Amino acid sequence: MKASHRISHILGGGSDGWDVFYKARGMIAAGVPVTELTIGEHDIGTAAPILQDMHRAAMAGHTGYAAISGTTELRDTVAARVQTRTGVPTTRDNVLITPGGQSALFAAHVATCDAGDTALYIDPYYATYPGTIRGAGAVPRVIAARAEDGFQPRAADIAAMAEGAKSLLINSPNNPTGVIYSRATLDGIAQVCMDQGLWLISDEVYDTQIWEGTHISPRALPGMAEHTLVVGSMSKSHAMTGSRCGWIVGPADMITHLTNLATHTTYGVPGYIQDASVFALKQGEGFEAEIAAPFRRRRALAQAVLAGQNAVTLVPSAGAMYLMLDIRSTGLGGEAFADALLDAHHIAVMPGESFGTSAAGHLRVAMTIEDSHFEDALKTLCAFAQERSPSH
Ligand code: PMP
Repeated sequence: MKASHRISHILGGGSDGWDVFYKARGMIAAGVPVTELTIGEHDIGTAAPILQDMHRAAMAGHTGYAAISGTTELRDTVAARVQTRTGVPTTRDNVLITPGGQSALFAAHVATCDAGDTALYIDPYYATYPGTIRGAGAVPRVIAARAEDGFQPRAADIAAMAEGAKSLLINSPNNPTGVIYSRATLDGIAQVCMDQGLWLISDEVYDTQIWEGTHISPRALPGMAEHTLVVGSMSKSHAMTGSRCGWIVGPADMITHLTNLATHTTYGVPGYIQDASVFALKQGEGFEAEIAAPFRRRRALAQAVLAGQNAVTLVPSAGAMYLMLDIRSTGLGGEAFADALLDAHHIAVMPGESFGTSAAGHLRVAMTIEDSHFEDALKTLCAFAQERSPSH
């Protein structure tokens, strides 16, 4: 029997820049020690008090079906947090709780695009984006952000590709680049969305990892609350990746439709996870800063290492748990460099090519290992790049 075209074509096919990643996984499975700088997963687990609260909630009996749209308490907590952070009036009617940001991205595309509609996204992109769009039955259309613009997408480039599209997916702070979109970039994006009648799907799962400048949620820009679905998650802000708790914030009528979709797909998120998420969110900004602190520290370490050489250039990194390194001076592509680095030094990084074509000749480094080990790995990477530079 044949699977549907939709599901059998979620992956686009062709080389996707993930060979180095799978090679590293194979080496690890074979017992070779590999310094893993590939995946966006904290090197700490979920904090014990959050787990204790999860246990308390489960033991108290919150183990049956929970409210499909999310518990009132969690929706209120998320709404209050979003309102405090953005100034946009937000109530529980604007919030749907989802099993993580990933399913929120899928639901947001189902909610905005009919089968065969075009959905825009920006390259470099979080690797699941085109597959999520295809899975939702829409057709992905990519817009390149340019290295020479510091990977801030140009409104004119988006406008030029927007004909017939229903949605635009953006991500700031950005995975993989670590770039935070400027006010000017977001104003331009908002204008295109309003001019072309596009839904903006704004993936803000890294909104507590801000190292420099300010994160602006585009939902807060004039006229945009009615155009925007914001995707959020407990994964990155509270080191709760395995708990699968996220949300969509948007206009109340869209949240009603999305709740209908949840009723027919996920049937909600476990009640004890939602209770623990309320507990986690109530720990406040100090706790969120603690979770983000290791990445802030490692970024500073990386800046110091990179300042001492000129073979590798750091893309100005303002947020998120990644650094994007420009290694074009070596004359190698990202894949060739990452593959050679893995062979020579057993250090695994992601080629920029894993995230589209715009970041070719770059590497994404996840800042997810212990500080001194991270610093040593970067020094080795820089020395390796230096040896390969033609001027060497
Ligand atoms: N968006 C981005 C940009 C991500 O990097 C990730 C996870 N790596 C997600 C969404 C999904 O995260 P989760 O489903 O754990 O909330």
